[in-house]
Amino acid sequence: MLALVDNLKKVNHILVIDAPNFRQTVSLEDSIYSIGRNTGNSIVIFSQKLSRKHATIVRKNEAIDNNDSFLIIDGDLEGNKSKNGIFVNGRKCDEHELKHGDLINLSDDIRMSYYIVNNTSDNSQGDASPSSGKAERLINRQVGIDKSTSYNFSREQFKQTQIISSEDNHRYDLAKLASLVELSPNPIIEINWEGNITYLNSAASLKFPKLDRLKLDHPILKDLLEKNDHRNGNLLIREVKVEEEIFEQHVHYLSESQLIRSYIFDITERKRAEEILQYQAFHDTLTDLPNRALFQEQLALAIANAHRNQAQMAAIFLDLDNFKKINDTLGHSTGDRILQLFAKRLHTCLRGGDTLARWGGDEFTILLPHIKCVEETAKLAQKLLEEIKQPFEVGEHQLYVKCSLGIAVYPQDGEDPEALLKNADAAVYRAKEKGRDRYQFYSSTMTSQVSEWLRLEHQLHQAISKEQLFLCYQPQLELATGQILGIEALIRWHHPELGLISPAKFIPLAEDNGLIVPIGEWVLKTACAQNKALQKAGLPPLKVSVNLSARQFQYANLVEMVAQVLQETELDPQWLELEITETTLVQNVNLARWTLERLQQLGIRISMDDFGTGYSSLGYLKQFPFHTLKIDQSFVRDLTEDSRDTAIVSAAIALGRGLNLRVIAEGVETQQQADLLRTLQCEAIQGYWLSKPLKAEDLINFLACREKMAV
Ligand code: C2E
Ligand code: MG
Ligand code: MG
Repeated sequence: MLALVDNLKKVNHILVIDAPNFRQTVSLEDSIYSIGRNTGNSIVIFSQKLSRKHATIVRKNEAIDNNDSFLIIDGDLEGNKSKNGIFVNGRKCDEHELKHGDLINLSDDIRMSYYIVNNTSDNSQGDASPSSGKAERLINRQVGIDKSTSYNFSREQFKQTQIISSEDNHRYDLAKLASLVELSPNPIIEINWEGNITYLNSAASLKFPKLDRLKLDHPILKDLLEKNDHRNGNLLIREVKVEEEIFEQHVHYLSESQLIRSYIFDITERKRAEEILQYQAFHDTLTDLPNRALFQEQLALAIANAHRNQAQMAAIFLDLDNFKKINDTLGHSTGDRILQLFAKRLHTCLRGGDTLARWGGDEFTILLPHIKCVEETAKLAQKLLEEIKQPFEVGEHQLYVKCSLGIAVYPQDGEDPEALLKNADAAVYRAKEKGRDRYQFYSSTMTSQVSEWLRLEHQLHQAISKEQLFLCYQPQLELATGQILGIEALIRWHHPELGLISPAKFIPLAEDNGLIVPIGEWVLKTACAQNKALQKAGLPPLKVSVNLSARQFQYANLVEMVAQVLQETELDPQWLELEITETTLVQNVNLARWTLERLQQLGIRISMDDFGTGYSSLGYLKQFPFHTLKIDQSFVRDLTEDSRDTAIVSAAIALGRGLNLRVIAEGVETQQQADLLRTLQCEAIQGYWLSKPLKAEDLINFLACREKMAV
């Protein structure tokens, strides 16, 4: 072994010769080497592509020290050039001073690489940077080349080139010695600036067997050529994932030799260990849930997001009621098991983006980063309480666990993580005070609002079947003729305890829980049937307007549903108008256009409701097939001759006329408003001045009365 190390110390300059089916390494220790196919050369390469004396390598400094360098010369020292010349790093040259990493082509398939070897030890994890001033480490055997077919140096030449020094009389050939560093498990890959692989050590071939096939598409080589900033000798360090393994890749851009050399270290284990440590630092070992630290981090992130998007989010604090009792009576292992099962159950109630964390002991926290409204959070809290009600089975025990929840909503209950958590915690205490097994919002008004909302929601489910819903109709008057043009159907809910509830209150609720679909269908059916009944009663036919809300509009079967109702009620489509708002359109412009066109094809009319309260009203008016424009009552309310609203209303009327739409002003309460609108040439009006919304039977009287007056 000592001999081996001694020998290594002598090896400084290495020439690696690559020819088809063969590779050989020559340690340059003499002053002159001649290379060619003639057997008289010191390095003989049997190939017809080479000249007899193709090239000569000459030591430049005779003193044998580390500062020596070698020149390569085309042909021999007498000035006879080779037939095809030599190419160093792709350039033809007569003479060249060899530099570490140089690539010399003697023919298209015979290539030599020149390296300066620091052979003191295999310090492969050490400083490998060329800028470090140390000679680079050399790895010099290519795996996969069949050495048995390698060309033969003659005995004599072996001696001269010291591939194997018979004088030293040891069995190692220097090719192997020089490649001692190669025994390092770390892959080394070299490519030239054209992207061809010029060098691979054995570790590289073993680690990256797909390199041959994938070439520059292999993750380890990907993007290396593109990183031009590094070409002026810079070092690039990056992490690369190759299948399941992770590598740290130190990439040296060797500008002189136009090579890109990578020293690659497998850091998979280190990364895994780091990941495990990281995981352990942020997770609770018993439940495997995020711990307090991770929760706080995510809470801060969620608050920042909610702030940016002007959205709401919620934090829930959850405390097991009487958990201490379970621990004390059944032991800690049962307690632990309960906590695990409890965590699992809670988890099933949450959505993908929500976070459930173990805060500590029997306390958990939940982060809901996106909530549409507080009612949604209340529903989740209710669901959690329900879920927990089922008994937990631990061993032979069936255990019932209860918990209390405190909810704080951003931004109203706190604008930073500390405030939000403190208030959620305060809310838990209030829930416990109130008798446990319940949820409580931090702000108590919210709790009562929510509970009223939820109660109403529950009751709204039964409103249709219990026949608590009914329609009122508000007539519309044509100003020029004094004729009733149509009626608008407006829903009412007669609540058994709360009395009459405004649609402004329960329509949003029905939209939220999807009840709007059956309710909307009921409204349409009733309005069409009652309109048909009016016609059958002999009254002049009127158009009935039915309001459609955004959610109804998105309902896939809307057009079919409308068609079917018309068929069932036998109402001619021309006597039905559907009212939609701009907001409905904006929510999905393409769907809206498609639906409106199909509704129009049914022969019914479409009206734009609450015109002026949305955003891009003008643009939409042109794009969609409307028949009627209803000016929102907010513009009519303060209508006086010189008010700003007058200008707006007058512009809306002009616009409607320009687009050939019938314009109706809503919310007309006084004679003055009606007169002014007539002056502004508004076509029709609707409002308390003419009539409040009327129950069906009152409408019949109203219409009959007008009929008589007209006669
Ligand atoms: P809208 O479609 O703009 O209906 C006009 C609202 O203005 C009605 O309120 C009506 O009673 C009220 N109104 C009419 N004339 C006057 C007036 O002179 N002065 C004042 N201050 N108000 C007047 P209502 O019935 O409470 O309905 C409110 C909203 O609820 C409606 O606004 C409509 O968007 C929605 N809605 C009503 N019924 C239905 C329905 O069957 N389905 C759907 N999806 N929404 C409905
Ligand atoms: Mg309306
Ligand atoms: Mg309106």
